Amino acid sequence: MSDSNPVLPRRGAAAAAELRARDAADAPGTVRVRFAPSPTGWLHVGGARTAYFNWLFARQRRGAFVLRIEDTDIDRSSVTSEEGVLDDLKWLGLEWDEGPDLGGAFGPYRQSERLEIYRARANALLESGRAYSCFCRDDELETRRRAALAAGRPPHYDGQCRTLTEAERASRRGEGRPESVRFRVDASDQVLHDDVRGEVRFPAGMVGDFVVLRSSGLPTYNFACVVDDAAMRISHVIRAEEHLSNTARQLMLFEAISERAPHFAHVPLILNRDRSKMSKRSGEAAVAVGDWRRDGYVAEALLSYLALLGFHPGDDRERLSRADLLECFSLERVGRSGSVFDPAKLRWMNAQTLHHAEPGAILAWGKAFLGDAARALPRERLPRLVALVRGNLETLADLPRQLAPFVGGAPEFEPDARASLETARGREVCDAFASELETLAPWSADGVKSALQRVGARLGIKGRDLYQPLRAALTGRTHGPELPQVAEAIGRAACLERLRAVAGRSGGAA
Ligand code: GLU
Repeated sequence: MSDSNPVLPRRGAAAAAELRARDAADAPGTVRVRFAPSPTGWLHVGGARTAYFNWLFARQRRGAFVLRIEDTDIDRSSVTSEEGVLDDLKWLGLEWDEGPDLGGAFGPYRQSERLEIYRARANALLESGRAYSCFCRDDELETRRRAALAAGRPPHYDGQCRTLTEAERASRRGEGRPESVRFRVDASDQVLHDDVRGEVRFPAGMVGDFVVLRSSGLPTYNFACVVDDAAMRISHVIRAEEHLSNTARQLMLFEAISERAPHFAHVPLILNRDRSKMSKRSGEAAVAVGDWRRDGYVAEALLSYLALLGFHPGDDRERLSRADLLECFSLERVGRSGSVFDPAKLRWMNAQTLHHAEPGAILAWGKAFLGDAARALPRERLPRLVALVRGNLETLADLPRQLAPFVGGAPEFEPDARASLETARGREVCDAFASELETLAPWSADGVKSALQRVGARLGIKGRDLYQPLRAALTGRTHGPELPQVAEAIGRAACLERLRAVAGRSGGAA
């Protein structure tokens, strides 16, 4: 993809002022951005962040967010992948205004349905002399490319078909050679004013003549992308930095098809801890949005985390909701260096999001994680239980375990809980507490709290010695929400049953 690295000078105050002036010039409704996934796999977290930045940019400026499916690599593209990507985007809440499923004024939005458009544009380039027919076969190109490398020359196309006469072309067609359309690259520097990277200079000679239309009739990525960004009136291209070297070719193509190039903003990569690119193959942390989704992560937390990998709000906020970002997001605050993906930080952010969320929201997000017993509870009970346990959730997948003491029968004891009940003292505490709860009136968390104090005073114990066996008896674990609230939610009958089972005097056997 990249032939060499472009030179990246520092962005100066003048460039920043220019960007601001440019932003101010955006008339309402003229901002059009796009997310253009290739449906060759699942949605990558980097793709999700690109989509989010585009979405934020469009929504801030009352512009349009377009979804375009780049499926011209027919061997690697699949309908299943396209469906998966759309489903993940919907789950993230990044709804689009135009796209393959919605249609729109600039459709179709699937590149495989636009082949005639690319063919016509390629013919126009042939007619204007900006492109030429190339009859070189892949094996010939490869042999010449290797020879160039061996001789220390850049491995660019060597120009064999650049100057063919009409008769030479006819003769090659007669031989039945494949015929592609190759773009004629001018020998001049390209300068990009990138909204994130500032001025980027692509030196002449960085790129050789390149194919725009393959002999199969399918366009190359760079060509289809430019034709579509122009046809779909895209005003800003916000995408991953790995496409920066493509931008050199794309600027040439915009000029050749006489279309104004959009603004570009290249967002730095998301990296592994060793600063290698986080890709499908690196295997360190999950890279698919779907994996985080299945593991009980919340879209809001994932988006907040991804946005902050690259975007700096200018203060020390560690979590930014969609509303916060709609207020403060700007391309100028997107950093230039790659950011390391930290699964522990994402987990923390997910937990924070759950701790601060309304129970109704948690239930809506976590529907798929609830067990049958929880689902069968009366409608008003479940939100109350979720409010009780949300402070102990790290992911939605924790819901069944955290809700279990309140929706199931006798608790399953975790080892440390079991240990705390194996002492005579532990059983004694449970027994004393059961006696207090039996006559407690009214049944309330405050009442349970007083009962706890009375048990402590009577047995001369407090703190952990008091709470741990009771929590263990009631819930099967040693950590959880406040004990009085837990007992209140479990209810008197179940509390008595669990305490007595532990104290060795279960109901009927007394
Ligand atoms: N289809 C390209 C990709 O998935 C899109 C690149 C672009 O946004 O221009 O990487």
